[in-house]
Amino acid sequence: MHVATHPSVQLPEIHLEPGAWPSASEIAHLFSAIPLLATTDEVAAACVEAARRVARCPCSLAVPTRPVPLSVGDDRDGMSPRLRFPAPGGEGELWTPDATELPPEVRDALAEHLTRVWQVQELRAGQAAELDQLRFHLTALQQVARTLSVVRSLEETERLVLDSVGEVFFAWWAALYHTDGEQYTCRAVRSLRGESVAYAIPARVVRSVAMPGQPPVVPPQDAEIRDHVPAEVAVVAPLDFGDGDAGLLILGRRMTEAPYEAHDLALLRALADSSAIALRNAELLDRLRAQATIDPLTGCHNRRGFDEILGVEFSRAKRYGRPLTLVLLDIDHFKTVNDQYGHEVGDNALQRIGRAVRHTFRSTDSACRYGGEEFALIFPETGKDEGARLAERLRILIETLPPNAEVPRSLTASFGVSAFPDDGSDISALIRAADRALYLAKANGRNRVEPA
Ligand code: GH3
Ligand code: MG
Ligand code: MG
Repeated sequence: MHVATHPSVQLPEIHLEPGAWPSASEIAHLFSAIPLLATTDEVAAACVEAARRVARCPCSLAVPTRPVPLSVGDDRDGMSPRLRFPAPGGEGELWTPDATELPPEVRDALAEHLTRVWQVQELRAGQAAELDQLRFHLTALQQVARTLSVVRSLEETERLVLDSVGEVFFAWWAALYHTDGEQYTCRAVRSLRGESVAYAIPARVVRSVAMPGQPPVVPPQDAEIRDHVPAEVAVVAPLDFGDGDAGLLILGRRMTEAPYEAHDLALLRALADSSAIALRNAELLDRLRAQATIDPLTGCHNRRGFDEILGVEFSRAKRYGRPLTLVLLDIDHFKTVNDQYGHEVGDNALQRIGRAVRHTFRSTDSACRYGGEEFALIFPETGKDEGARLAERLRILIETLPPNAEVPRSLTASFGVSAFPDDGSDISALIRAADRALYLAKANGRNRVEPA
């Protein structure tokens, strides 16, 4: 970059006899007027001006500053480097016309003062870079803390952690690992190039280098872990869940190809700590949410869960024009179980039937405890005939459960089956239809399945 001499720099004049050179103290006085805290361009322009006054000829200054080298002063045609001095990025040069002759003491004084000025500039540049780094760290931490301060589902939190950490470090991929005690495997990954991160890391290796409380490790620089992870793994940070459980936050190489340096690792450690807390909170919330919709006696979804699931499945069925079947199940003469054997046996019977209901169906089906001794089954993607067949299978299973110590009596149940779109265009119509069919099953002698 070529910068013209800066007009804002005012330096003292030196008045000399013809043929005389400025004294050391005059040169020092001149250079002491250079504003060291001005911009680099201004400082360079002031140096050139000072050199002109001392050398009494046109001058040009070159400093190999990064990222752009600096070149200030007069046209260099017919000039050559007169002296060199240590400067940011290497060596600076003062150029003067080819024929210039400077006394050695003048040249030495110029070199000495230019060195001092540019040493200060180098120091400033280093401090500015450090400040930039710190500012970047602070912004990254603030951003991540803000993102993670809202408790979300575990899945969403995992995604947010990987997104924000991946972005802060410009990593090609970021992954969360968890352990079963034997090895660490990937549970979530964010990858810009679609890498699948399928490496497993033996737990004994992790135990020796990346346990909670330890700083992140850079596998290529760590002999203990280097041989156990692929070369794509650039840095491994432990996640401290605070209960002995450990996870890992693993990053791939950076898009900038820059290595992970000490300050990166310090930032990663801080990010890993807040991520671990957010992940643990999300997990607890998920667990609480699940508990809030699960019936503790039978393990089936409770009425709230039923409402949620049916709401979701119904709107999906309606939107995509897919069938959906609802089955209501009511245990026959259940009151007599309580009356004959007591409430505890009644509870055991409910538990037993709940288990049968939960384990009979496909993973996409949902088993719910609808009321006291009534259950509801939701079969997505299932027509009424198929739904009735599934209900019949369950009816036979319940009927044939052998009496045992907990439930010393056989049981039967009645079923009402309704389906979307045949039996209703909204949720309550669907439930009413199943309820009427169930009433019919009771009226027709119980222990039977009635379609609406
Ligand atoms: P039906 O064949 O007509 O369904 O006869 P039923 O006796 O099953 O019908 P009803 O609805 O009159 O009785 C249901 C009984 O279920 C009443 C109640 O005591 C019992 N019950 C409901 N919830 C529970 C529970 O959580 N535990 C126990 N032990 N009993 C329950
Ligand atoms: Mg009932
Ligand atoms: Mg009943």
